[in-house]
Amino acid sequence: PSSKRVALVTGGNKGVGLETCRQLASRGLRVVLTARNEARGLEAVDGIRRSGAGHSDIVFHQLDVTDPSSVSQVVDFVRDQFGRLDVLINNAGISGVDRDPVLVAKVKDQVEGMDVDQRVEWMRENSKETYEEAKACIRTNYYGAKLVTEALLPLLLSSSSGRIVNVSSGFGLLRNFNSEDLRKEFDDIDSLTEKRLEELLDLFLDDFKANLIEAHGWPAGGSSAYKVAKAALNAYTRIVAKKYPILRINCLTPGYVKSDMSMHMGVLTPEEGASNPVKVALLPDDGPTGAYFDRNGEASF
Ligand code: NDP
Repeated sequence: PSSKRVALVTGGNKGVGLETCRQLASRGLRVVLTARNEARGLEAVDGIRRSGAGHSDIVFHQLDVTDPSSVSQVVDFVRDQFGRLDVLINNAGISGVDRDPVLVAKVKDQVEGMDVDQRVEWMRENSKETYEEAKACIRTNYYGAKLVTEALLPLLLSSSSGRIVNVSSGFGLLRNFNSEDLRKEFDDIDSLTEKRLEELLDLFLDDFKANLIEAHGWPAGGSSAYKVAKAALNAYTRIVAKKYPILRINCLTPGYVKSDMSMHMGVLTPEEGASNPVKVALLPDDGPTGAYFDRNGEASF
């Protein structure tokens, strides 16, 4: 077996995930680019291979992070091919809001004149939050990352330096919560359990349905489910990091990136955004674990 480190990236067919795959391959890692859609994933792998030397050690495998049978197939694949996994990048995510694609296509030409606040405001005004979208968002961004993590943990523990990198967001920071009690619960890593975390997610969805988001101090001002899902992903990162001190398990924001998710409103290119997950994935063995990184380095939750 090769001594190259093996990395698996979820949602690798476009945006930050695609560029993360490209950069990890060019840094000499062997990359498993995964995508829920096989055609889009294969096309992405082809694109990376065609983009030059040093980019060839990359393979595709289908993975829908919300589908347990798809997850177990990718685990079998990694076990059979490599016998271990060195780096897992949980990047797949959805916005949790409905947007009008016609509007999105039009706004691409107008964003250059807007500052970041105007862009975020435009996004908020043109994004419809529905209960179904909120549920799907938590299912993908939190439960999907958890499902993949749990399934691949044994293979990560077989590595001599296993890492998990959870691609979160500044929207998941606790300052977005208006309730001091909720902020404390999400931040109290000494007593927070996965079970309690998931009770909180259920409470959020009940409140969402009952139109009590603002009244109960959940993140408001748009993208509520996305903010809660990313806050939960951050808390999960810390819980799992505590449980497996032998691994390095961290979360981060890629920054505000031009991608389909941001309706190309972001200020960074996907290449620039991907530099953060890549940097955190390649931190030394004695580096931090259970930490959050923004683009300037380790930052507070
Ligand atoms: P994109 O919309 O460009 O990419 C999202 C990726 O996730 C796509 O490959 C998509 O696949 C995939 N995905 C969605 N659902 C699933 C699923 N069930 N199983 C597998 N893959 C799935 O967005 P970005 O590249 O911007 O986002 C990447 C990550 O960065 C996300 O976690 C996002 O929350 C985070 N982030 C992005 C920011 C930004 O400004 N863009 C800011 C902060 C964080 P498909 O093509 O099939 O839909």
